[in-house]
Amino acid sequence: MDFNFSVNRAPVHRLVIVLDGVPAVATRTYEKGSLKILWQPELCSHCENCWRGLPDVFKPDARPWVNLEGASTPDIIDQVTQCPTGALSILSR
Ligand code: SF4
Repeated sequence: MDFNFSVNRAPVHRLVIVLDGVPAVATRTYEKGSLKILWQPELCSHCENCWRGLPDVFKPDARPWVNLEGASTPDIIDQVTQCPTGALSILSR
């Protein structure tokens, strides 16, 4: 079986492995305007930083659990860059 393999370095500090254009691990993306956030649940340590920092954006009991309308783009970027594991990262801003 042939694979087209590429590695994209997200702007923050995560490597996203893509096989045939599809992320190799389960991910979700959330967008608001040009802002695009990547969520990689298997990397989450459940440290609570995100939802304690921006409770109107990150709501662990809601579906979807990320609501980018809950804060300004600069505040969301600031919070995402504080994710200690890279479970949250910024794909575009
Ligand atoms: S800050 Fe990152 S590691 Fe911590 S709960 Fe949020 S997504 Fe998970």
